Amino acid sequence: MQKNDLIRLEVTDMGTDGAGIGRYEGMTFFVKDAVVGDVIQARVMKLKKNYGFARLEKILTPSVYRVEPACELHRPCGGCQIQTLLYDSQLALKQKVVYENLVRIGGFAPEVPAHIFGPPVGMAYPYRYRNKAQYPIGTGKEGEIVAGFYAARSHNIIPVTDCRLGVAENKVVLDCVLSYMKENGVKPYDEATGKGLIRHVLIRYGFVTEEIMVCVIINGSGLPAQEKLIGRLCEIRGMKSISLNQNKKKTNVIFGETTETIWGKEYITDYIYLRDSTSEPEFQRTDTAIAYRISPQSFYQVNPEQTEKLYSLALEYAGLTGKETVWDLYCGIGTISLFLAQRAGMVYGVEAVGQAVEDARKNAEYNGITNAVFFEGKAEEVLPEFYQNGMDGDGHLDGEGADMRHPDVIVVDPPRKGCDVRCLDVMLRMRPERIVYVSCDSATLARDLRILCDGGYEIKKGRVVDQFCHTMHVETIVLIQKKTS
Ligand code: SAH
Repeated sequence: MQKNDLIRLEVTDMGTDGAGIGRYEGMTFFVKDAVVGDVIQARVMKLKKNYGFARLEKILTPSVYRVEPACELHRPCGGCQIQTLLYDSQLALKQKVVYENLVRIGGFAPEVPAHIFGPPVGMAYPYRYRNKAQYPIGTGKEGEIVAGFYAARSHNIIPVTDCRLGVAENKVVLDCVLSYMKENGVKPYDEATGKGLIRHVLIRYGFVTEEIMVCVIINGSGLPAQEKLIGRLCEIRGMKSISLNQNKKKTNVIFGETTETIWGKEYITDYIYLRDSTSEPEFQRTDTAIAYRISPQSFYQVNPEQTEKLYSLALEYAGLTGKETVWDLYCGIGTISLFLAQRAGMVYGVEAVGQAVEDARKNAEYNGITNAVFFEGKAEEVLPEFYQNGMDGDGHLDGEGADMRHPDVIVVDPPRKGCDVRCLDVMLRMRPERIVYVSCDSATLARDLRILCDGGYEIKKGRVVDQFCHTMHVETIVLIQKKTS
């Protein structure tokens, strides 16, 4: 067998990156865009000792799990990996990835996840769920100005203004920006030369308030005929904030340092509702909501519907009665902390990024929440400090110290690399009754759960929550509890 050979493959599985997997002459092949159950013709692209990569050339017999994709650009675009897989099968695949990691990396018996996890939490309509879009602006093949997305593993822009994962309003905004550029001779930024003005357009949409924010990122200090752009944009229903961000550096970091509001407010507002995870049907909205003020660069969860379900589960798993002391580590802008604060005695949030901590404090104040305190710093540094010294925020030892050293519940929502061992170590020494682990990477989740379970905890509950439909990102929430014996 050699490169460029055409082979007939039966796709029998799918991998963690969403590629179809099949075996041919004793070799395992990975084929992007192939779906489990497909019989395909594939071209061999790369050969290793026992495995290889092949390109999908032709579907000979389509799988029963294959569906018509909503977007014709799903193959070249780097955004979605599994759009042609039936949605229920996407959920099953994500659940399988989590189970396999718990068994393979965490060393748990296969029946542990199988018995403990509830069904995956999916969306009734798994499109149009993102509340934020960042479109690069550039030049297309015919020299025309385009907005779109980067092709997989590249910086070539695929023109598309209506990504199905984003809201329909994105296209309306982008059409305004593109026609303003054409009519006023405003040039798109060119990454290769560092010339041209408009680099990116950021659009944020409040799903509850229907407020829209637009931030245009420019390689310069201002826009020519700025009032013409404002004039168009401010007519869009829901438009609340228009700003310019200056980024004059030759970099692929999107934002520069200065942002100036040129019309409307500096922020939009949105709400995250608490849902009842035990209701029938599941996850009905309650009347409780937390309001958030969102600036162009604020961190904010991108799938609000699923975030409500995920954080409502976090609150359910925390099992609060009103008196508890809770640490919320890796708390970001305090989304989970402020949920927890409604039912806890005290919540202590820890977050490494200063701006996020400021946002968390502002959001607490904005909602009149007084029992949530936020600390800036790394969880693996802040937590040991409190544990060893029992200090409050001012560096004083006081009665509160004891509760902080021995909280009832610890919630963690770390980035992909998971928790630092120093953090896990102090968590074990604090011996909370319950630990709620929210994870965006089930491999590091499995690794960390092994450490916590070896330290005297056991897994009690778990769910996979689909925050990023059609991609292979998997969000998992697990409740572990102190062993009684
Ligand atoms: N629950 C949060 C989001 C968590 S995302 C929310 O809803 O807002 C993970 C967060 O961990 C990010 O905000 C990131 O800045 C922060 N982070 C990364 N490493 C950290 C560390 N070592 N200690 C504390 N926070 C960290």
